[in-house]
Amino acid sequence: MQTLVIGGGLVGALIARELTRYEMKVLLVEKREDLGQGITKANSAILHGGYDDPPNTLRGKLCAKGNRLYNQLAEELKIAVNRVGSIVVAKGEEELRKLEILLENGKANSVEGLRIVGRQELRKLEPGLSKEFDYALLCESAGVIEPWMVAIAASMNAVNNGAEIITGNGVVGAIVESKRAKRVKLSSGREIEADLVINASGLFYEQVSSFFGVYAPPVKLRKGEYILLDKRASTLVNRVIFPLPTAAGKGRLVVPTIDGGVLLGPTSVEFSDFFPEDVSTTAEGLISVRESGDDLIPGIDSPQWFLKSFAGLRPESPQKDFYIKKADELENFITVGAIRSPGLTAAPAIAEYVVGEVIGSMDLKLTPKDDFNPFIDERLRIKELPFEEVARLIEADPKYGRIICQCNEVSEAEVIQAIKDGARTVDGVKFRTRAGFGRCQGGFCSWKIASILARELNKDMSGVRQNSQNSWIINGKVRT
Ligand SMILES: Cc1cc2nc3c(=O)[nH]c(=O)nc-3n(C[C@H](O)[C@H](O)[C@H](O)COP(=O)(O)OP(=O)(O)OC[C@H]3O[C@@H](n4cnc5c(N)ncnc54)[C@H](O)[C@@H]3O)c2cc1C
Repeated sequence: MQTLVIGGGLVGALIARELTRYEMKVLLVEKREDLGQGITKANSAILHGGYDDPPNTLRGKLCAKGNRLYNQLAEELKIAVNRVGSIVVAKGEEELRKLEILLENGKANSVEGLRIVGRQELRKLEPGLSKEFDYALLCESAGVIEPWMVAIAASMNAVNNGAEIITGNGVVGAIVESKRAKRVKLSSGREIEADLVINASGLFYEQVSSFFGVYAPPVKLRKGEYILLDKRASTLVNRVIFPLPTAAGKGRLVVPTIDGGVLLGPTSVEFSDFFPEDVSTTAEGLISVRESGDDLIPGIDSPQWFLKSFAGLRPESPQKDFYIKKADELENFITVGAIRSPGLTAAPAIAEYVVGEVIGSMDLKLTPKDDFNPFIDERLRIKELPFEEVARLIEADPKYGRIICQCNEVSEAEVIQAIKDGARTVDGVKFRTRAGFGRCQGGFCSWKIASILARELNKDMSGVRQNSQNSWIINGKVRT
């Protein structure tokens, strides 16, 4: 049996990994140059507790479960998870009622570590919080993570367990016969046979389902704009801080990031049309993000801390829930679409649900493999190691002593390891090693990374790309 997963975001990668527990050939096809560069790349990166998703939805059922599954996943895939906790803040008695409703909802969703705290405890938990807030819903199980590392590590583990990953090659069409998906066509012209197709293509789930003549609910894109702040801002905030949620979503937050920075945002603006590449930011959006951050933590919007702005797109649908379903039209096609927030948190539970419940209900017999290995090897980060250990590493390999990214202390050896792990672009190295994520945002290290890529991949510098094929960095030699 050959199963094809379309889309190498964190959802597709975790599904592919889950499938490699069974006797079958698994193929993952991703149209971009690297994994985890779609919605997975630009979001709030929070492991939500799961207290605000309605209990009768898939979101409600899978969020808290996914949150718990990250404990095991972090060990197996060596993903950094920081359970900093979160608070939803409220003013006065009327807003306290809203926190109580969230608390009840959280209990119905089996959320762990959830309780309401009053003024005194709130001051201790978050000394930098605006004094206007009287209460908060504290969720100790909430945390922060690097979402793209979930996609990268899950696909590395899937490959170790026999899967094949194809990147830079998107699905552009399909051949369907006798109510079955038979083959998919890739942009390169290659055709792939499939006994089972799983569509996990993020923003494009409706388009990809349509290639197979399968209905999926219409996708509406909703943009979220962010400002990333320097590590110095992190002295003002300990946990993820939410305002009260509204009909438009969870609101604009203050998030301590896993590498020590702070994120402000996101906005929530619905597109009238399908513009999946529009991740531009606007003055209006960024001003609102600053102001909302300052309402929660006065002074956090200090301009000297601003590092960069960016935006991500949410795949919303009319039912406001994940759409995970075997197609009515075909016997061997599953859509995993509308994976909006809390899709990052729910993803491990989504993967289990797709394989256990959806495939489990189909006329397919899955035979578990005896030799499935859930672990990958740890990748060293010299920044996180004791000095003596770094000294030992340098003695064995001097490339551990050559620092490429000064801001995040990433060595040449780590850059080379990232290339061995599949990085083919400057961003591929950046997202695997954190080189270029710091204060200078790659201003000093990008060219060094580009030259290491050229050397290790045995190509000319002009052939190295920032991320996609058309994102060239160097045009050619100006002098010979
Ligand atoms: C602003 C924002 C904030 C969010 N914050 C949070 C949060 O804090 N916590 C949380 O739990 N969730 C959050 N989410 C939701 C979470 O980020 C998403 O649910 C999750 O990343 C979705 O992952 P995915 O794999 O479904 O999509 P993607 O990462 O987009 O993966 C789909 C992949 O399919 C590929 N693809 C598309 N078409 C094709 C094709 N034809 N052929 C081959 N490949 C194709 C794409 O290139 C892409 O890589 C947020 C989302 C947004 C936008």
